[in-house]
Amino acid sequence: MSVTSEFIARSERHSAHNYHPLPVVIREARGAWVTDVDGRRYLDCLAGYSSLNFGHGNETILAAAREQLDRLTLTSRAFYHDRFAEFCAALAELTGKDMVLPMNTGAEAVETAIKVARKWGYEVKGVPDGKAKIIVAEGNFHGRTTTIVGFSTDPDARGGFGPFAPGFTVVKYGHADAIRDAIDEHTVAVLIEPIQGEAGVIVPPDGYLRQVRQLCSEHNVLFIADEIQSGLGRTGETFACDHEGVVPDVYVLGKALGGGVVPVSAVAANADVLGVIRPGQHGSTFGGNPLACAVGVAVIGLLRTGEYQARARELGAVLHRRLGELVGRGVTGVRGRGLWAGVDFDPALLTGREVCERLLERGVLAKDTHGATIRLAPPLVVTKEEVDWAVDRLAEVLPR
Ligand SMILES: *Cc1c(COP(=O)(O)O)cnc(C)c1O
Repeated sequence: MSVTSEFIARSERHSAHNYHPLPVVIREARGAWVTDVDGRRYLDCLAGYSSLNFGHGNETILAAAREQLDRLTLTSRAFYHDRFAEFCAALAELTGKDMVLPMNTGAEAVETAIKVARKWGYEVKGVPDGKAKIIVAEGNFHGRTTTIVGFSTDPDARGGFGPFAPGFTVVKYGHADAIRDAIDEHTVAVLIEPIQGEAGVIVPPDGYLRQVRQLCSEHNVLFIADEIQSGLGRTGETFACDHEGVVPDVYVLGKALGGGVVPVSAVAANADVLGVIRPGQHGSTFGGNPLACAVGVAVIGLLRTGEYQARARELGAVLHRRLGELVGRGVTGVRGRGLWAGVDFDPALLTGREVCERLLERGVLAKDTHGATIRLAPPLVVTKEEVDWAVDRLAEVLPR
């Protein structure tokens, strides 16, 4: 047995089978490259679902984490700590909002946004108690808690996990009319991904986000943008909403906010919205801890340079031009923005899983989404040569 298959067999024996990983066991990583236990190297074109936008082992982030590790890691929110104000101020400035509420994982931040929107609905908008409604989109992915999977449209995500929380209306993604039709006097929020990641990197039609913004403003409804995967540089702007010049009422952030080191998530909004949460009404033991804040501050510092957004824009253009050349050669469609692409294959020829297995053999890590679609999202530190190289490998796995 190879070292790899031994590790895989041991992993499967004592872990729940809630994932179906590709057969590679990673041991170390730097920048855009990882090395497995047998010494093989791979270009990481998943980047932890965009958690590793700044690359594996980013020195700036690691230095901040190391310094903090040696000094103070956890206090709980029962006390203040000396990194908290700095992180909250930096994230408020990055988002242009008054306030932030730090949590840990993405799902927790989404849950926070749901709680805030409902409370805002009752206390500010005047919705009768228990009636608050939130509009969400078909194909959404917002995390794995019972409330969140309750409004998923993916049978695997929700099957067997009910009963589910009421108060959500699912409408077609990318159609502002569907949102207009669904809004009523009890609607407190529209919760959408500006680009749907797990659904296959689905970019809505131009103008959709602006229309959602306008509808929400007209009807006194909060626009909650789940930018957990689309935000923080991935699409070539700090936020995917920036492409349409749209500012949501609530940003939900996670993934790359933790710099690939620790889970860090947050909700950002103005005081008229986040101010509805008062002491004792929401919290998290680990949310906003000193290590998370130190890492988050370093991440925000990297974003402030604009360098990563620029790389995503420039290299994203290369990625999309090169992928476009494969259309008609087993590839049926390419979508995305910046260094983020969903690639559809002819299902009669290849499944997404098969493509990823063949890429793995050629030294590229990628992940299928549904059926015959894969997603490519390398760390934003990847070079043009590496992007070209990855697309060349993809061309090799297509049937001739
Ligand atoms: C990954 C993701 C989440 C959930 O984040 P977790 O940290 O896995 O809980 C929520 N929304 C979007 C858009 C995501 O991509």
